[in-house]
Amino acid sequence: MKCAFIGLGANLGPSLETLRQAATQLAAHPLIDAFELSALYRSKPVDAQGPDYVNAVARLGTRLEPPALLALLQETEQQYGRQRPYRNAPRTLDLDLLLYEGAQLDTHSLTIPHPRMHLRAFVLQPLHDLAPELVLEQGSLAALLKACDHQEIERLP
Ligand code: ADP
Ligand code: MG
Repeated sequence: MKCAFIGLGANLGPSLETLRQAATQLAAHPLIDAFELSALYRSKPVDAQGPDYVNAVARLGTRLEPPALLALLQETEQQYGRQRPYRNAPRTLDLDLLLYEGAQLDTHSLTIPHPRMHLRAFVLQPLHDLAPELVLEQGSLAALLKACDHQEIERLP
């Protein structure tokens, strides 16, 4: 069983409900175990326009290899009507594979660790909720969070 972290985000349609439903669906998947969801956060789009995002991070155990896990995440995005009209477009659901055990991978379709996760408060804060001791190649979560403290995020009740 391998430990993976997934970033969840949505800013189109019923974002909050979509995030909760997608999380419940992944947690129930036969090849996923021990699914834990962080608190939910609201954030402003980074490098993009559109409504505020709802974000969270999940930790899970799985026997799926990284490409199969990414395929499952993309299939789930499709179920919630994900479209990709242009880069950083608003989205009904975005599921990113952030970390997969200690894996380092760089193929045309999959980079692990996720290449921008260390720059995004909306990933780092929920990740810190689940795994405060985690250290990324760029530094500790606490140090990385400090470096993006100008990015507003709000923890949802
Ligand atoms: P965004 O980067 O805004 O999340 P998309 O969700 O549209 O954009 O993803 C674009 C592409 O990024 C996908 O087709 C996928 O193959 C690729 N990709 C590379 N690494 C990852 C990763 N770690 N997690 C998710 N997608 C990834
Ligand atoms: Mg994505």
